[in-house]
Amino acid sequence: MPGIIPHRHCVVCGKAIEPDHQVCSEECEEVLKKERKRQRNFMIFMFAILLLLLLLMWMPIFQS
Ligand SMILES: [Zn+2]
Repeated sequence: MPGIIPHRHCVVCGKAIEPDHQVCSEECEEVLKKERKRQRNFMIFMFAILLLLLLLMWMPIFQS
């Protein structure tokens, strides 16, 4: 009964793995790390844009 055994799926390739694991292999671990880094960079980028917009709104040219 394979459906009864508690397990998770590799978040990268979807392979069945141990419940305390997140990925099935070191390769998938690398992919996950890269994806997280990419997402973090994107968040930093968005935050920078937001700060820039706030800064622009505070500029005197927009307050007259
Ligand atoms: Zn995998």
